Amino acid sequence: MLNFERVKQSHEDPAKRIKSFEIEPVKEYTDNEAYAEASRCIGCNICTQACPASLDIGGYIRSTAVGDPAQTVRIVFETLPFPAIIGRVCTHLCEDICVLYDEGGPIAIRHIKRYAADKFSDYGKIISVPKKKFVDKKVAIIGGGPAGLTAAFYLSIQGVRVVIYEALPALGGFMKTGIPRYRLPQDVLDKEINFILSQGVEVHLNTVVGKDIKFSEIMQSNDAVFMSIGTHKPHMTGTPGSDAPNVYHAMNFLQRVSLGENIDVGNDVVVIGGGFTANDSSRTAMRLGAKNVIIMYRRREQDRPGYPSLNAEEELEESVEEFVKYEWEVTPFEYVQENGRVVSVKYWQNEMVVEKSGRAKPVPIKDKVHEIKADTVIEATGQETDYSFIDPEYLRSLRLTPQGHVVVDDVGMTSIPGLFSGGDSTNTNKDLISAVRDADKSVMGILEHLNLMDTVYDEKLPILDRWKTYSASAGRRT
Ligand code: SF4
Repeated sequence: MLNFERVKQSHEDPAKRIKSFEIEPVKEYTDNEAYAEASRCIGCNICTQACPASLDIGGYIRSTAVGDPAQTVRIVFETLPFPAIIGRVCTHLCEDICVLYDEGGPIAIRHIKRYAADKFSDYGKIISVPKKKFVDKKVAIIGGGPAGLTAAFYLSIQGVRVVIYEALPALGGFMKTGIPRYRLPQDVLDKEINFILSQGVEVHLNTVVGKDIKFSEIMQSNDAVFMSIGTHKPHMTGTPGSDAPNVYHAMNFLQRVSLGENIDVGNDVVVIGGGFTANDSSRTAMRLGAKNVIIMYRRREQDRPGYPSLNAEEELEESVEEFVKYEWEVTPFEYVQENGRVVSVKYWQNEMVVEKSGRAKPVPIKDKVHEIKADTVIEATGQETDYSFIDPEYLRSLRLTPQGHVVVDDVGMTSIPGLFSGGDSTNTNKDLISAVRDADKSVMGILEHLNLMDTVYDEKLPILDRWKTYSASAGRRT
């Protein structure tokens, strides 16, 4: 009998997994589970419209359904070079609009991609890359995160000489320093980054642009530059008491742990914020030995960033499984210090008052002060881009939005000719798959800017906006 229910993803025991950064919470599908789940897909490709990078989702799901995960990986590589990474940490908005959402559950698109990609330890055996014929063009990439690495891959397979400047001692950007290892294992990162580098990409780690090399020098010595600089300037709340050493910004906290530091968080950890970074910080704190972790958010559960989406639900579910607690509708107003360290957080309960716009605004009820013990406070309260590394003569010409994002044209070029930009500094989605899409777009823009479009390998160009022309063509692939 046909089974229309989504094949369940099994989870590791929470009590066991919070003791280690090495255990992925969600277990991989077995072969039979992957075939069964992929076989539910009807190949309509409606989901492709929700994918910022416009992947041929129906095509690659069908490939797995017919037992050809290598073809699944090849199809993903038409647009992005990280199938195993994205198969774990994508926001998977595609699943939110899957036509089977109310018919047994959306296809587990992200999970199937992970299953297929994990089948291959060396993509070189299944992906054909054109024989290298370097053209006389050089492109510098500032920032070795998802957008930078994607651009590096698609440019280098076209024979462009690519050099990446990365400030940190490791590549990966947010994938390395913002996503904890239990969600994205190091060997998965290594496999995909090494495959990209094997295309002949030159890398300068520990190289801070603006300090170790001038931005103007990079601009002048390359034919084009792609900036994928992310958002690395923390927004702290400025709450009284936040100058204590046991108050961290989530970005710094996650980065330090990802780079190998074992931070002593004590027993009681308070995380301020309600988004995905708050969840990552709280679950990281659990793995560092905390006993009680509380996320404090000023709005209601349904107001949290990312909600409503399957991704937000899954993240909350996994955090709750791992014993993280939530205090919704609260305003922390003081981090109480003793001997120079925070020992507790004082807060008010909020009342949600609906405004004219229809959005409910949190208003603190100040009659009563609540207090909670804290050995560590982590503020997951956002971050922005730091442009101070750019020489003033260039910075003056770089157009930014009022919110501080780089303005780019249809092909990713900034207001400075030859300077392209993508990723979190440029788009407002601030997710990995959108950073990939920015890079794909900029690759096309850079190749055009370098007058290389007549000599490129057409079939190796990243495919943009597939959804615009899509019909139910999943079957053509397999
Ligand atoms: S929306 Fe996508 S995943 Fe869902 S059935 Fe259609 S092609 Fe398959």
